[in-house]
Amino acid sequence: MPMTKIIECDAEKCVYNKDKKCHTYGINVGDDLPICDTFMKGIEKAGASSRTIGGIGSCKVKGCTYNEGLECHAGGVHMHKTRGHVDCKTYQEK
Ligand code: SF4
Ligand code: SF4
Repeated sequence: MPMTKIIECDAEKCVYNKDKKCHTYGINVGDDLPICDTFMKGIEKAGASSRTIGGIGSCKVKGCTYNEGLECHAGGVHMHKTRGHVDCKTYQEK
């Protein structure tokens, strides 16, 4: 199964974010809430510039429809910044 891709992320202050795309290989999402655990605020950018799209490495949100065995099986996810954290907007309660 291919890794679920992050279609868009609007957390532009994250070191892994360039042009509203995530540039790290795989993020971690969770625990109980669908929050990006890999978010890191900073000016200096990180991740590989050759990598144009990031993926979901693991997700601990057992209550999401798309979660099987603590991995994401959605076709793609959208990430959105809210107050103090970044949420998976593709989350759907089981
Ligand atoms: S998905 Fe997470 S790690 Fe990737 S750019 Fe957004 S906040 Fe940063
Ligand atoms: S869609 Fe569900 S399983 Fe996939 S990353 Fe978001 S919360 Fe986790």
